Amino acid sequence: MRRISVFGATGSVGASTLDLIRRDRDAYHIVALTGGRNVDALAKLAREFMPEIAVVADADLQDDLSTALDGCGVEAASGRSAIVEAATRPIDWVMSAIVGAAGLEPGLRALEQGATLALANKETLVAAGPLVMATARDNGATILPVDSEHSAVFQALRGEDPASVERVIITASGGAFRDWPAEKLANATVADASKHPNWEMGQRITIDSASMFNKALEVIETREFFGIDPGRIEVLVHPESLVHALVGFSDGALMAHVGPPDMRHAIGHALHWPDRRALPVERLDLAAIGSLSFRAADEARWPALRLAREVMAAGGGAGAIFNAAKEQALDGFIAGRIGFADMATVVETALENLHSISDTASPLGLEAVMVLDQRARQEAQRVMDAFEQ
Ligand code: NDP
Repeated sequence: MRRISVFGATGSVGASTLDLIRRDRDAYHIVALTGGRNVDALAKLAREFMPEIAVVADADLQDDLSTALDGCGVEAASGRSAIVEAATRPIDWVMSAIVGAAGLEPGLRALEQGATLALANKETLVAAGPLVMATARDNGATILPVDSEHSAVFQALRGEDPASVERVIITASGGAFRDWPAEKLANATVADASKHPNWEMGQRITIDSASMFNKALEVIETREFFGIDPGRIEVLVHPESLVHALVGFSDGALMAHVGPPDMRHAIGHALHWPDRRALPVERLDLAAIGSLSFRAADEARWPALRLAREVMAAGGGAGAIFNAAKEQALDGFIAGRIGFADMATVVETALENLHSISDTASPLGLEAVMVLDQRARQEAQRVMDAFEQ
């Protein structure tokens, strides 16, 4: 029986992962399920899936979780260190679906024990790509991409010679504001930005899709995971979200991955890899769909895309700063402290102000990444404070 854990079990990717596991329940022994603050949802999942341990990230919620799990035989734990400890338990496969930089350390610990890491948490590779890839290599561990674009690239590359890859094109739906005039964006509200036209996802990634910060993270993730030169990575707006990525080869061929906008596709691919098994996703009727459309991604409209290129050119600790500043700016937007278009300004200013400390040799260790992460959060807060004065 495969020993598996789901980090971020109470979220959107966690739910899709557990939906697939539920359909083949006897094939898996669940080691750990983790959540952030949603004790009710975590306890419900723990009572259904009976993991060895359930962990809630917020240490203040220990008593609530213990009470909710009383008598069912599942160990209840809390706090960041308990999540990291859960990742050190013997395991074959782990879903990394915590949102934000908090997902980095549990993923690293799972890799250190040679587990297969199904990586939805894109912040992991953005903040610490060289460290994460080296940890996987040194421990004979496997990382399988779960972001739909990266899963698509991974599948298009299967059996191909990496030297024949000319370019990688990742698609973007354009998010909630793809048809808004640019001048209206400054007044976009949190409610506006939280409505994705095609995908059902957590609120943070949905807003990041509207600002294209999500795509910016994915461009950096593509570079780190596949080792593709930044100049060969392109972004293409594709409003239907059916073509997830394309790989261009030296003979001019483009291999596209086409599928419904359903995360269970990429999750199922990672769960069953190297096999391909039946998945409960819609089968596309291309005749009914009729046509697919594509548009250039305008970097003037979406400054996050330009910032991603600058971060890749800078290297060193720029990814960790970019990610943390973006998380803070997103918090600031959700809290009503800054406007939608201000998020990019906050991130760009934090990157500029911390340029001197980001210029470090790679790969950075976990501690160095976390120091940069904290400095970037403080800097982004300082920039937002200045906005408010
Ligand atoms: P959700 O917001 O739906 O879920 C996030 C999960 O992380 C929840 O379980 C949440 O717990 C938990 N969490 C939040 N903060 C912490 C913390 N500090 N420590 C530990 N756990 C925490 O996010 P998604 O499922 O949408 O996304 C998860 C990750 O996957 C993100 O990195 C996202 O970018 C990526 N991703 C998501 C896709 C999607 O379709 N949703 C597609 C591709 C990638 P709780 O809710 O209990 O507070």
